[in-house]
Amino acid sequence: MNETYYSFNKYLRGKFGERVHRISIDAGFNCPNVDGVLSKEGCIYCDNKGFSAYAGKAKDVKTQITESIEYYKKKSGIKKFIAYFQAFSNTYSDIKSLKEKYDTIRQFPEIAGLFISTRPDCINEEKIKLIGSYKNEYLVWIEYGLQTTNDQALQALNRNHTYENFTRAVTLTRKYGINVGVHLILGLPWLTHADTMRDAILLSKLDIQGIKLHVLHIFKDTKLYQMHKERPVKLPTQKEYIKMVCDFLERIPDNIVILRLISSANPKFLVAPLWMNDKNSVIDCIKKEFMSRGTKQGYLVKINNN
Ligand code: SF4
Repeated sequence: MNETYYSFNKYLRGKFGERVHRISIDAGFNCPNVDGVLSKEGCIYCDNKGFSAYAGKAKDVKTQITESIEYYKKKSGIKKFIAYFQAFSNTYSDIKSLKEKYDTIRQFPEIAGLFISTRPDCINEEKIKLIGSYKNEYLVWIEYGLQTTNDQALQALNRNHTYENFTRAVTLTRKYGINVGVHLILGLPWLTHADTMRDAILLSKLDIQGIKLHVLHIFKDTKLYQMHKERPVKLPTQKEYIKMVCDFLERIPDNIVILRLISSANPKFLVAPLWMNDKNSVIDCIKKEFMSRGTKQGYLVKINNN
């Protein structure tokens, strides 16, 4: 690997040989951590309005895909797309309704991939089989929201699942040969640097294919915002985040795709850290930090595994 990390763009270029755009979809699913099955509070940082351009607008899946394809074809000349079922928990429904929503992609020859984001406790063999059934025609990934391997921190986030739920979901998903992506939050105030590196080492030993990194961020109208108003929550500075990402990726094997190094958020809802929306600068600084260290993704993997 000549680059400092295995980027998602590089992965997609390798698969399709051309630019591919991910279309973010809100298929109208709910989440057991919001609808009262596990909790009504949700994760303390959760405000799906902050993520999805479509949340709350109640457009159907077909309309969302049609509009996005038209927009990106015109704007950037992109011809291939991935349908990304992103908002809330996209396996949290009965099989019939899941199939109906996922099957919408079959109406679009431009769609080449199916990515499904969900919680690790919202999956079972029947659902995995259904998702696996798209594998022959599409590039298929399931992205699990894990955030950390530390159960106490998961509790502090009010995630209402455990690390073990996640490892079980990974085993089941890999049994059907589906790619697994993991969402992680860096900069959780309850974790030390050593805890974060432990997350990296544990993940480096699992059969996962991708990792998506986020910085802990505060949106308006969330529990975390209330906590922050009562007592400011310590969030990483841009400089701290850059170092943390490099330390983390040095411990991640270089065949694991880095689906994202930093997320961005709708400025209307974002309280902090505001620097996260300067994505390009953060990504540049991460590359420069690797270059100044003379390291890259996977640099410490052999040392850790000895
Ligand atoms: S699991 Fe996802 S959708 Fe559900 S409350 Fe947490 S962040 Fe929100």
